[in-house]
Amino acid sequence: MGHHQGAPMPAGLRHVFRSRVHPARSVPCPNEHCHARAHQSCTVRVNGRVLKQPHASRITLWARTIACCPACQVEPGTPCHNNGRALADVHPRRIEEAKDTLV
Ligand SMILES: [Zn+2]
Ligand SMILES: [Zn+2]
Repeated sequence: MGHHQGAPMPAGLRHVFRSRVHPARSVPCPNEHCHARAHQSCTVRVNGRVLKQPHASRITLWARTIACCPACQVEPGTPCHNNGRALADVHPRRIEEAKDTLV
């Protein structure tokens, strides 16, 4: 931390760098039991517990939204595919790619 000096960054990302929360919190959580809004923590609905890590589906959505996929070569916003069939999930390498775009 503390080494992100210099280049100005988009306002939407500043929140991510200011805190140690998972960057996937920049998108709303698609988990039907959670419904965390952008920049809110995911919670467990049954007991209200706040999760340290976002739901896996939120991380998937986040990676799909901001990163190209190095595995299947799709643009940000386009679902991953396997031999032309769209995947509900994303390739693990896309999540790594999404993390890299924040550095
Ligand atoms: Zn969630
Ligand atoms: Zn992919």
